[in-house]
Amino acid sequence: MILKDVKHVFWDLDHTLWDFDLNSSDTLHELFIRYNLENELKTQVGEFIAAYKRINDVCWDKYRNGLMTKDELRLARFSLTFSHFGVKEYDRAEEFGWRYMDECPKKSKLIPGTFEVLNYLKGKYKQHIITNGFKEVQGVKQDAAGLKSYFDVVVCSEEVGEKKPHPSVFNYALEKAGANASESVMIGDNLEVDALGAQKAGLRGIWFNPEQRLVQHSVIEITELVELLQIL
Ligand SMILES: [Mg+2]
Repeated sequence: MILKDVKHVFWDLDHTLWDFDLNSSDTLHELFIRYNLENELKTQVGEFIAAYKRINDVCWDKYRNGLMTKDELRLARFSLTFSHFGVKEYDRAEEFGWRYMDECPKKSKLIPGTFEVLNYLKGKYKQHIITNGFKEVQGVKQDAAGLKSYFDVVVCSEEVGEKKPHPSVFNYALEKAGANASESVMIGDNLEVDALGAQKAGLRGIWFNPEQRLVQHSVIEITELVELLQIL
C-alpha cells in the first residue's frame, strides 16, 4: 500500500527516531557509576534504571496532563527515585538531575532504520518534527545524532502552549510548514498522542509500534521504520 498525495511527513522525535530509552539508560548508567550510587542507594544499576523509568513515566503523564510543571518534573523524577531506594534527602539529587539533563541530549543512538528512511524520504517529501520534548534540548539531540539537515520545520509543543495530541499543535506545525492536513502524515510511537492526535487534526496518522502492542485503532501501523519504504 502506497499513500497517495503526500507532500509533508511530520515526525515525532523521542522514541521514534532518537532512541530515548537507550540514550537515557546510557546516561543513567554513567551517572550511577560517577555518583557511586551503588553505595549511596544500596542497589544495582539495572534496578536503579528500571525504577527511574517507571517514576519518570508517571511524572511525564502528570506533566502532559498539566498536573506537574516542567521544573517540577525535571527534579521530582530523580528525588522520587532516590526516595524509592530509601534515601529521602540525597543532597546531590538536584545536581544529579541537572547533569542528566545536560548529558542525555548529547547522546546519539537512533532507532534502527532512521537514516535509511530519512534518506529515502528526503528527495520525495518535506520532513518536519513535532515534539512534546523540551525546546532547549531538541536541537542538541538532533545535532548530536546528525539529524538536523533533514528537517524543514521543528515544532516543540512548548512554543504553542499546548501539547500533542491537542489539535492546535498540529495546526500550528502545518501552518509553519505551509502544509495542508490532507497532504500530510504524522509518524510517532505514541498512538494517542501522535497518530490519533494527528488524525483528529486531519493528517494521516502512522503509529510506530515496535513493541507490537495489541490495540484496536484506525491508523496505519508499522513495527519497524523501514516499513515506511513500502508506504511512502
Ligand atoms: Mg515519542
